[in-house]
Amino acid sequence: MTVSAKMKLLFVSTPVGPLGSGMGGGVELSLYNIAQEMIRRGHQLQIVAPAGSSWNDLPLVQIPGNLQIIAQSQERTAPITMPENSLLANMWDYTRQVQGDYDLIVNFAYDWLPFYLTPFFGCAIAHLVSMGSLSNALDQIIKQLVKQFPGTIGFHTQTQAATFALEQECPYLSNGIDLSLYDFCSEPKQQLAWVGRIAPEKGLEDAVAASQSTNIPLKVMGKIQDELYWQKICQDYPNAPLEYLGFLSTNQMQQVMGECRALLMTPHWVEAFGNVTIESLACGVPVISYRRGGPAEIVQDGKTGFLVEPDSVPGLIDAIARLDEINRYTCRQQAETEFSLQALGDRFENWFHKILDLRCDFGNS
Ligand code: UDP
Repeated sequence: MTVSAKMKLLFVSTPVGPLGSGMGGGVELSLYNIAQEMIRRGHQLQIVAPAGSSWNDLPLVQIPGNLQIIAQSQERTAPITMPENSLLANMWDYTRQVQGDYDLIVNFAYDWLPFYLTPFFGCAIAHLVSMGSLSNALDQIIKQLVKQFPGTIGFHTQTQAATFALEQECPYLSNGIDLSLYDFCSEPKQQLAWVGRIAPEKGLEDAVAASQSTNIPLKVMGKIQDELYWQKICQDYPNAPLEYLGFLSTNQMQQVMGECRALLMTPHWVEAFGNVTIESLACGVPVISYRRGGPAEIVQDGKTGFLVEPDSVPGLIDAIARLDEINRYTCRQQAETEFSLQALGDRFENWFHKILDLRCDFGNS
């Protein structure tokens, strides 16, 4: 297949929540952006998504069924489980039936089943792994497939891939965003942002502690995924100048974000990428993050933000005090150079073509 060849692509979404709900975290925005860029480039595309998905501007096939439990909430040694009338199984049953109409299936789910099913499919399957290692069973099947189908398992960053301790080199695919949707804001208010799913692995409490110590208001945006965790933060920090704004649309979110002096990223896990990092940079907002996972590969320390010692609230406070050293225009520039839709499209198109070319070489297609 030549690089200019048009592909017929089938994207299979995550089964943890409908697209547009926020339950899928960064996967939702990544899938949306990759899909729209592939369509703009003239490829044929269909998305298999959970029923109740609210995107009307992209071609969706909505599949019913019960949602999958998120991997982050389970023990590493937990066995693989699926509910009755499993949405995940239903999505892959549909995918199996229509596979003959496509050149390539792209799996966005962080679940064991699609990896396991891969050798049983006639159509090529690419897997985009959206989190670091969390489950022994998933690690095992990923290791196996990386050997069996080289090049078909993609990660967002090297530090994310390193958590799987793979022997083979794998493709790394940074995300990208539609920069025209993010306004550059040169003059922020005296406030900070924290954006993401509200769940323990995201470490919101550290940002709240830093906001309380500095007395700089913290605007919190994102889906409350763990209600008890959220309630505990509110109880533990009753005097923090904290304002929860809900799960906002990209447009509303970027408006608030742009008016902030910095985005605080305080993950307690290895963040695979961290879409909010590049959304923040696009608004001209420096990112203060723990030196861990995806943000540590994105943020240019001292130039487009600060990387601080993981889990150190004093480290966050020190970085907040140094924010005047950052030129907000440099932040926007980094987003424009590295994380545009064009750059995203080039990365993914090349990856898809490579997979299909390799398949032709082995005489499989
Ligand atoms: N997000 C949003 N509205 C909000 C808060 C967050 O649309 O009010 C989106 C944000 O654009 C990003 C995603 O939620 O795409 C969070 O993804 P990220 O990669 O940062 O973390 P994940 O949830 O995947 O761990």
